[in-house]
Amino acid sequence: KQVLVCGGTGCQSSHSMDVLKALKDELAAKGIADEVLVVRTGCFGLCSLGPIVIVYPEGAFYAQATPEGIKRIVDEHLVNGEICKDLLYQETVHEDGSIISLYETNFYRKQKRIALRNCGVIDPEDIEEYIATDGYQALYKALTSMTPDEVVKEVLDSGIRGRGGAGFPTGRKWMFTKDAPGDIKYVACNADEGDPGAFMDRSILEGDPHAVIEAMTIASYAVGAHQGYVYVRAEYPVAVNRLQIALDQAREYGLLGKDILGTGHDFDIEIRLGAGAFVCGEETALLTSIEGNRGEPRPRPPFPAVKGLFGKPTLLNNVETYANIAQIIRKGAAWYSSMGTEKSKGTKVFALGGKITNVGLVEIPMGTTLREIIEEIGGGIPDGKAFKAAQTGGPSGGCIPAQHIDTPIDYESLAALGSMMGSGGLIVMDEDNCMVDVSKFYLNFTVDESCGKCTPCRVGTRKLLQLLEKITDGKGEMEDLEKIQDLATHMKSSSLCALGQSAPNPVLSTLQYFGDEYLAHIKDKK
Ligand code: SF4
Repeated sequence: KQVLVCGGTGCQSSHSMDVLKALKDELAAKGIADEVLVVRTGCFGLCSLGPIVIVYPEGAFYAQATPEGIKRIVDEHLVNGEICKDLLYQETVHEDGSIISLYETNFYRKQKRIALRNCGVIDPEDIEEYIATDGYQALYKALTSMTPDEVVKEVLDSGIRGRGGAGFPTGRKWMFTKDAPGDIKYVACNADEGDPGAFMDRSILEGDPHAVIEAMTIASYAVGAHQGYVYVRAEYPVAVNRLQIALDQAREYGLLGKDILGTGHDFDIEIRLGAGAFVCGEETALLTSIEGNRGEPRPRPPFPAVKGLFGKPTLLNNVETYANIAQIIRKGAAWYSSMGTEKSKGTKVFALGGKITNVGLVEIPMGTTLREIIEEIGGGIPDGKAFKAAQTGGPSGGCIPAQHIDTPIDYESLAALGSMMGSGGLIVMDEDNCMVDVSKFYLNFTVDESCGKCTPCRVGTRKLLQLLEKITDGKGEMEDLEKIQDLATHMKSSSLCALGQSAPNPVLSTLQYFGDEYLAHIKDKK
């Protein structure tokens, strides 16, 4: 028998480590510790049902496990072979009493897990489990049978675009860095995930850190780099710890460091911890912070591919982008580009939160509609409430209102609605949410996180927030709406970096779709 216990941060926060300890204690007490393989995995995705425990070979999916419940699972299921059906996730139990696997439920059926393929499946602290699921095969293939040009071409042909927010074609970034003159180049990974409600990158690092290491090493070969950095939030201690363990193991197995796999290619990776500034997710601020300086954006061009870390050409991708790379190299560009829409290939991971039944992490093929995500995968809105809007792209994004629920999710469709893909936060609002409050929430965030380097953002975000507060305090005037539009236009055109340029987006999109709520506040004048 094998028992998987989720060790992701979501489940840990609902005490999955107590469940794990109780499981091990009970197995020892029953004298069957040697017969049951216990694996602490990364995130399964269904975070709202944590702590999650799965028992194989039956695939019995136990939800919201407790130390008391796990003792029953050991006694009744593992010792006596009787599944504790009352403790299972009820969607996995049919009326006739038969059970289905978690992967056949509505939550998983429409998902396609590429970046998340090993999360909730393997022990992220054991490199051999990664290797057993075809791990490091892509690195071997790239180093032994492909030229750097061929690797770059494969990534280009796959059509993958940056999953960190901007959606720039990844292969072109690789090509620019490879073609940039200079003997010293770097490969960096942006793991400074900071959008409210977003935890895609954290979960990948916690659940499958070797996927990122393998991809960065492939990238280093493709662009000609020998040193890499992962810039990760210090607020992600589980991810940082697992990444460090994975780096040590990769070195031990000759997959990182000098003469990788005996091919003569040298590459190593260091971790750099972020200090909690949202702006350090912006690529030039991130690189400046790695250099040891205050994390402030710098003007582009020059772009990092030409002049990045320490003034040298630098390839920077985010965690989710890297998590796709080994699969693209192993299975080929045609396989990857067969998924998704014409201009948005592959899959996208979303952190599903807010007023939704299945809060968690989902990975869907591009082109899946918002309705499919909310009503099928997400299980709908709790308490029979009506769906009002979904916010994507965090503080840089916007709201998609109910009338556009059949929009296919891809870069172009979201942009056409005034929102953006962003890094993958997807927060659902129901009929009870005040959309002016929603935009105030995001603006409060950007006021706090503006680095202050340029005036349009430093002053503009504060002025915008003041106008919103005036409106929700019942002191708003009609002309305040014009001032908001005016200010937003200037901020978008004159802020130095994407933080300031996109900070007005949540306000503009709620004004566009929910202008009546702004008017209601103004008419409610005190
Ligand atoms: Fe800093 Fe905002 Fe200017 Fe970006 S736009 S440089 S975050 S003040």
